[in-house]
Amino acid sequence: MSKPSPEVYERGRGMDAHNQVMRDIRSEKEAEYDPHEPTRVWLDEDNTPGGVKRSLTIILNTGGCRWARAGGCTMCGYVAESVEGGSVPHDAMMDQIQACLDHEAEEADEPAPLVKIYTSGSFLDEREVAAETRDAVAETFADRERVVLESLPDFVDADKLRDFTDRGLDADVAVGLETATDRVRHDCVNKYFDFADFEAACAEAGDAGAGVKAYLLMKPPFLTEGEAVDDMVSSVERCAAVDNCHTVSMNPCNVQRYTMVDELHFRGGYRPPWLWSVAAVLERTADADAIVVSDPVGHGSDRGPHNCGDCDDRVQKAIKDFDLRQDPSVFEQVSCDCERTWELVVSEEPSFGAPLTR
Ligand code: SF4
Ligand SMILES: [Zn+2]
Repeated sequence: MSKPSPEVYERGRGMDAHNQVMRDIRSEKEAEYDPHEPTRVWLDEDNTPGGVKRSLTIILNTGGCRWARAGGCTMCGYVAESVEGGSVPHDAMMDQIQACLDHEAEEADEPAPLVKIYTSGSFLDEREVAAETRDAVAETFADRERVVLESLPDFVDADKLRDFTDRGLDADVAVGLETATDRVRHDCVNKYFDFADFEAACAEAGDAGAGVKAYLLMKPPFLTEGEAVDDMVSSVERCAAVDNCHTVSMNPCNVQRYTMVDELHFRGGYRPPWLWSVAAVLERTADADAIVVSDPVGHGSDRGPHNCGDCDDRVQKAIKDFDLRQDPSVFEQVSCDCERTWELVVSEEPSFGAPLTR
């Protein structure tokens, strides 16, 4: 595979040192993908402003995130260039959609009212998904109730969203904001945009009658457990206060291959967050004016969010219950001796820091 390289669009964004390291790490990945097959598809249920709905989740293979080519986010192992040539033509993209519909027809009695479309990049970036494809996807799902479309804030555009809202669909943009704190987003995640850009994207989505679902990252590298918890509490509150941002999905970082987080983890410089931290943030933000959910991936494993090993499944189940019911009392029903260790970690873990004096 060729070494990712930034285009003019990406130059001068993010931190040069982070981008350099991430480009080198990503270039080690050798993988080939079929442009006619989606990356993943599955059925689930989700909490939406219209209640809990059955969902069809699709991850399209669009050729990869632009930002990943520049180097990109320190925790993200998604491919920098997931098909040869870096873009997927319309017909192949529609083959992917058909494969998802076939999967749904096999697994479910009825079509899901909610369809969530991710690309590990931006569905609204026309380099990934051409206008023709976007229109055809909107037409394909016009008989559903709601769609969620993943996009970085730069590409959120009311006219593009009207492809969906003009067909009577409720539409939401899923924005990988990661944190409301610009310093953490820039220096720990290496994501280039500001909270103000997210606010502008929320307003733009609102112009098309669409909403926004903010995705937050709990515990990027270089934060202590306690700093990560505080950063998430303030981020959930700040997102919930933005007009049109009706849902916050706060997800714990996991260690993906070919990332800076992986290299830090390998050298003992990173531990994924405790599940108690996830529960604490959900409890502390239960009054926020938004649906707040979390979907810990790889829970209970060394590379995913974890507690002591004994209680991980129980705490994960409480988190999933909270997602659907938004009732913080679910966390009163789980406890474990390791909570005391977690409390100590939250209060005592030292930050990365060079000594000021010898
Ligand atoms: S997290 Fe999103 S923006 Fe960052 S490199 Fe991965 S796909 Fe791109
Ligand atoms: Zn435990």
